[in-house]
Amino acid sequence: MTTFKQLFTNSMVCGAAAALACAAGCVAADPAGGHEHEHGGAEEETIASAADALTERELSVLVLGGDFRVTNGYRPADGHAGIDFGGTGDGVTAVRSPVEGTVLAKTGECGKVAVFDGNHTVIMAHMIELTGLVPGDRVEVGTYLGKASRTVGGGCTATGAHLHMEIRTGRNTSMAAPARDNTATTLDPLTYSYGPFAPVALLAPADGAEAPSAVTFRWEPRQGATAYRLQASTVNSFDGETCLGGCEYDDRTEGTSLTRSLTPGRTYFWRVRAGNAATAQGGRWSPVRSVRVR
Ligand SMILES: [Zn+2]
Repeated sequence: MTTFKQLFTNSMVCGAAAALACAAGCVAADPAGGHEHEHGGAEEETIASAADALTERELSVLVLGGDFRVTNGYRPADGHAGIDFGGTGDGVTAVRSPVEGTVLAKTGECGKVAVFDGNHTVIMAHMIELTGLVPGDRVEVGTYLGKASRTVGGGCTATGAHLHMEIRTGRNTSMAAPARDNTATTLDPLTYSYGPFAPVALLAPADGAEAPSAVTFRWEPRQGATAYRLQASTVNSFDGETCLGGCEYDDRTEGTSLTRSLTPGRTYFWRVRAGNAATAQGGRWSPVRSVRVR
């Protein structure tokens, strides 16, 4: 069982002034006040589509591409309506969407972008170099939104570069700070169920290519994914999680390639998806490719 404790306290948190969610509660996190997230049990052999809460590290990797720490936790009763990931570079660390949905709003004031995932609204704040996307545009899990910084304005202050991440209930286009004691209108980003990863891009073999019997399948990584699943079948009939004609291979790896021995003279159909084995966060399947084995 892995336990993550939020024991970090530094200055990379929102200023105490007004606005955004970083109103009254934006002081350094109380080292004794950190909460724990636990994940028990062995990793699943397959990656289910049901989502579970991410650990602090998993959410950091998903959103920031690295292991940053929550320096100010979700304390809605105190007015801090989201979480801060501290220790980012100023204008260095890219922020990516943890959900798929549409851009709802964007403003340079405090560097905020809001994405609606169909259920709730994810707001990222204190960013520069905001995405060129505009309200109404689609985003996937992993779409670039901006870079973490100490950008302030609109009543939002900060003592250093960090990312403020907030989830508001429903479709919320307001960039204004929620009221103090906002439990009814905000959600803890560390307990939220994020959407599926976008399809991975397949690299090799090329669609329709010929290959020797030991075929190495390769694909591009997805930020935030900790595992990938490869399916190969002689029947080009995939449905949901399964190969309707039976899977020759239905394998999981933490890497971005797998080599498998296939039968010469046959044509195989294959696809891959990204996932998060620890949390069972799944992903959408890639398009199907074929490979002819010599
Ligand atoms: Zn904050």
